[in-house]
Amino acid sequence: MTQEWITVLGATGSIGVSTLDVVARHAERFSIYALTAHSRVDELFEQVVAFSPLFAVVSNQDQANRLQAKLDGVLSTTQVLVGETGLVQVASAPQVTQVMAAIVGSAGLLPTLAAAKSGKRVLLANKESLVSAGRLFLEAIRENSAQLLPIDSEHNAIFQCLPAQWQAQQSGDLKQAGVSKIILTGSGGPFRETPINELSDKTPAQAVAHPNWSMGQKISVDSATMMNKGLEFIEACWLFDVEPDKVEVVIHPQSYIHSMVQYSDGSVLAELGQPDMRTPIAHAMMFPERGDSGVAALDFGTIGSLDFNQPDYNRYPCLQLAIEACKAGQESCTLLNAANEVTVAAFLEQKIVFTDIAAINGEVIRHGTAIQISSIDDVLAVDALGRQLANEAIQKRSSV
Ligand code: NAD
Ligand code: MG
Repeated sequence: MTQEWITVLGATGSIGVSTLDVVARHAERFSIYALTAHSRVDELFEQVVAFSPLFAVVSNQDQANRLQAKLDGVLSTTQVLVGETGLVQVASAPQVTQVMAAIVGSAGLLPTLAAAKSGKRVLLANKESLVSAGRLFLEAIRENSAQLLPIDSEHNAIFQCLPAQWQAQQSGDLKQAGVSKIILTGSGGPFRETPINELSDKTPAQAVAHPNWSMGQKISVDSATMMNKGLEFIEACWLFDVEPDKVEVVIHPQSYIHSMVQYSDGSVLAELGQPDMRTPIAHAMMFPERGDSGVAALDFGTIGSLDFNQPDYNRYPCLQLAIEACKAGQESCTLLNAANEVTVAAFLEQKIVFTDIAAINGEVIRHGTAIQISSIDDVLAVDALGRQLANEAIQKRSSV
């Protein structure tokens, strides 16, 4: 079996750690080319010692010096690189065949795009890059014969439920293939049953305590507001080339069904499994083959019932904002994604309350932008505007 070199962008995060767990189970097949981290130098050092990558990338020179000193202490030959230039270098290096895009937020955009432009198999966890750059990102994939395999559990489930020919080409006319609807499931997060008038009192600790999935802080808050499902709605339209009216969101609190595809003859195909990201990671890394992910099989004797409900937009206004942005176009999606990164960070720092996240995100997309996105520079400009508008709204709230 030929050895494949993988770069893991965002190695110290929740998806990064799960990816390394899968890699370790298939050492005969996968080797690590590079591991990257933003601030957790000690964790990155441990990973470098365990996987001996050729490169490790950190965000600034201080961290690089600290990591280098620790690596010198164990006579490691791993080379340390710094910043976005380093990220782009390890995402596009010729030896690399697969890039796990698991940096959180639009910080992942340029390195993920670099992987697409150099024809890699892109394992896409970083949904924010597809939300903020949509068509430009997909063009980079197509024009460079790259592959785009979804890691988000919902999109990975949908991928698995699509016709084999679509899976092989990762494109095609789904309507012609008889697909009538894509059904995204979501658990509803930790506040599914909280009285709506109590949502403004919810703390960051309560918001990140997801009932079924263990994830990074930002996506955990996004799950509590259901902005995560909104970003996934936009992600689904791009990945599967479908109109927004062909995507439906259903609340499924148990998280065993990861999403579904409905066909014109009335059949509905679903992918089920434990809520453990190692399943979609192993699927995408080994596609079209299958291999061990370390995830236990479902035990149907203990699952009990599976429930389904319609989402209530009064409880989840962020979900509605994202669906509206998806219908309005790229500029709204980019603005919303940027604003949401800022509002979620402000909520985690206790500068605003939980319900301000949706209120400020709404103000930012209603403000709009005169810029029309036709290049990555335009994406970066609209992203910067969304951040600026959200920061202004946060400051206004704290000064009253
Ligand atoms: P996390 O916060 O646990 O990890 C984020 C990683 O990105 C870390 O390695 C961090 O060092 C790195 N990072 C953060 N800011 C950076 C910056 N400015 N520059 C460079 N690196 C930076 O997040 P996570 O839960 O692993 O999620 C990662 C991505 O995967 C997100 O886009 C998320 O939406 C997506 N995703 C996660 C899950 C999950 O179960 N955790 C599921 C589906 C999709
Ligand atoms: Mg998901």
